[in-house]
Amino acid sequence: MYNNIHMATSYLSRRVDALKPSPIRKFFDIVATMQDVISLGIGEPDFDTPEPIVQAGVRSLLSGQTHYTSNAGILELRAGLSAHLERLYGVHYEPGEIVITVGGSEALYLAATAFLNPGEEVIIPTPCFVSYQAEVHLAGGVPVEVACRLDNNFEVDPKDVAAAITPRTKAILLGYPSNPTGAVAGRETLLEIARLAEEHDLIVFSDEIYDRLVYGRAHVCFPALPGMWKRTILLGGFSKDYAMTGWRIGYAAGPGALMTGLLRIHQYTVMCASTTAQVAALEGLQHGEEHVQRMLAEYDRRRRLIVDGLNGMGLPTFEPRGAFYAFPHVAVTGLDDETFANRLLQEENVAVIPGCGFGAGGAGFVRCSYATAYEKIEEALRRIERFVNRI
Ligand code: PMP
Repeated sequence: MYNNIHMATSYLSRRVDALKPSPIRKFFDIVATMQDVISLGIGEPDFDTPEPIVQAGVRSLLSGQTHYTSNAGILELRAGLSAHLERLYGVHYEPGEIVITVGGSEALYLAATAFLNPGEEVIIPTPCFVSYQAEVHLAGGVPVEVACRLDNNFEVDPKDVAAAITPRTKAILLGYPSNPTGAVAGRETLLEIARLAEEHDLIVFSDEIYDRLVYGRAHVCFPALPGMWKRTILLGGFSKDYAMTGWRIGYAAGPGALMTGLLRIHQYTVMCASTTAQVAALEGLQHGEEHVQRMLAEYDRRRRLIVDGLNGMGLPTFEPRGAFYAFPHVAVTGLDDETFANRLLQEENVAVIPGCGFGAGGAGFVRCSYATAYEKIEEALRRIERFVNRI
């Protein structure tokens, strides 16, 4: 038995073999065996997809839209996105410069695969979404982590990015608003990054999948910054903003000459994104705004509850300006983040995610998602406080 497993493993490519299983998954495997857990571990909206969007998907199926679409996605959706991005951020993409993908995840895969030659480096501000390093690695590139800090509200410091640039650097991968920290990068910071990209002729992959979930300020769309359109691949999607994670629908946008590379991979690997999901996403763009605003207002209410609660019990937590995560510093309790999360789960049935799984700079922090009902967050905070006081 052992031999069989061993043999099977050795058949895997070195690249895949070297890929570590996500520590987050391991943690959820434990959570799945337990009962009555309040989970602040979830990385997706707790809202169901808004009704009109679901209805649009159902109507499309019943009317026989059960076939492939064009590889890049239905023209109406690409045109709709083009208008949407122009209206929100003043950034212009022709429909032919947009590829509709299977979630933001596929868009990220396409970007990494289309641009990276073996050994080329991608600078990634961390802590970050766990797939960033993995996708760069799978594409043959080398992820170079640049740790962000609490004293800078987890905004990347351009000086650290500058110090990480080498002759092998090909790209910078930005993810703002950030999973797992909730940080957003200010315009000044992003302008500095833009200057570095220009100076060193780098590509920028900008994952803006949480673009609509920004509190009290305007989202800065990276390709809209001066000179950045021509060197940016914008990665986005419907999962978070429209509560559509299960539909698997996202997009990549960039200059046509670059997008042909992404489209080629997309065409040979997935053919096209789900037809049903594309029709539903179009409905979201056209009529979903009130729902986006309703969910945003509710996240904001929970955000204030959780940030005040965590700070109030002595866990330093900076104010997250985007997404739906708070990132308290738990090392002040004397426990490392993994021990804190494990004991909190075992002793108080509350799940949070240890920060060390999100790359350099994450150790000592935990990710608390507030994509959970207000009352559950209240109860989770009571339990966390009890736990913190006990230790
Ligand atoms: N980017 C970030 C920062 C994320 O947090 C996620 C999902 N957790 C994704 C991309 C991928 O989203 P999806 O594939 O569901 O669109």
